[in-house]
Amino acid sequence: LAHRSFNPDGTVITIGDVEIGQETLTIIAGPCAVESEEQLFRIAEAVKSMGAHILRGGAFKPRTSPYSFQGLGEQGLEILAKAREKFSIPVVTEATSPENAVLVAQYADIIQIGARNMQNFELLKKVAILGKPVLLKRGLSATIEDWLLAAEYILSLGNFQVILCERGIRTIERFTRNTLDLNAIPVVKDLSHLPVFVDPSHGTGLREKVIPMALAGVSCGADGVMVEVHHAPEQALSDGPQSLYPEQFRRLVNNLQVISVIV
Ligand code: PEP
Ligand code: MN
Repeated sequence: LAHRSFNPDGTVITIGDVEIGQETLTIIAGPCAVESEEQLFRIAEAVKSMGAHILRGGAFKPRTSPYSFQGLGEQGLEILAKAREKFSIPVVTEATSPENAVLVAQYADIIQIGARNMQNFELLKKVAILGKPVLLKRGLSATIEDWLLAAEYILSLGNFQVILCERGIRTIERFTRNTLDLNAIPVVKDLSHLPVFVDPSHGTGLREKVIPMALAGVSCGADGVMVEVHHAPEQALSDGPQSLYPEQFRRLVNNLQVISVIV
C-alpha cells in the first residue's frame, strides 16, 4: 500500500489550510520540547510570523537518559492546544506509547512517531486506528525498507495519512549527531506515494549545519522541512545545540523561497 503504484499522483494530506504533498513546501517549526506556556507562545508567535505552517513541540520526550527532561506530559499537550488556538496554527507532537497516543490524538493535528519508536508495532497499530495524520520518523538504524514497512502497518489498518520524515541515521561518523541520509529522499519519493519531509535538526545536531542541509533536502525533493527553533537555545531543556535562533529560521525561510514555492 505504501508503494508508488498504489497512488501514482502522490498522496496529499490536508490539515486545515495546509496541503502536505502538493507542489508547495510545508514548514514545521518549534522547540524540541514544550517547556512552559511562555516559552511555547514566544516561539510559536515568532515562527508563525516568519512562515511556519505547523507548530511542533514534544510533550512526551523519548530521552536517551532517564535523568534528562522527560517532557511536561498532558500539561504540555494543553499548552500546545492553547498555542494552536491563539496563533491559528496546527500542531504536531509525539506519542511514545499506545496509552499516551490516545491523549495526544485529543490535542494534536498530527501524531509524531519518533525514530526510537519507528518499529514499536503496537504503537503504530494504535495510531493507525486513531485516524489522525501520522508523521513517521525514520528509525536510527532503519533501512528504507524497514521504514516503508513501518508505514505499511499504519496504511494496512486504513489510515493513509502518513508523512515520512528522514531525520538522519547512525553511521560511523560522530562529528554530526546523525548522518542525514539525503539519498533516502529521492529513493523514497520514487518508491512511495507518501509525502517525505527532511529534519536537518536531528539529522545534523548542529545549528550551523541546519540551513544548508534543509536546502539540500528540499533540493532532493522533500515535500517539507521540520526544524527546531528556540528563542534561547542555551537554556533549552532539550536539543539546544541544534535549535535555530528565530532570526536563523527567518533566514532559512528566505533561502527556501529561492528554491521552492511556499504559500
Ligand atoms: C524530536 O523530533 O524531537 C525527536 C525526538 O526526534 P527523533 O525521534 O527523530 O529523534
Ligand atoms: Mn529534538
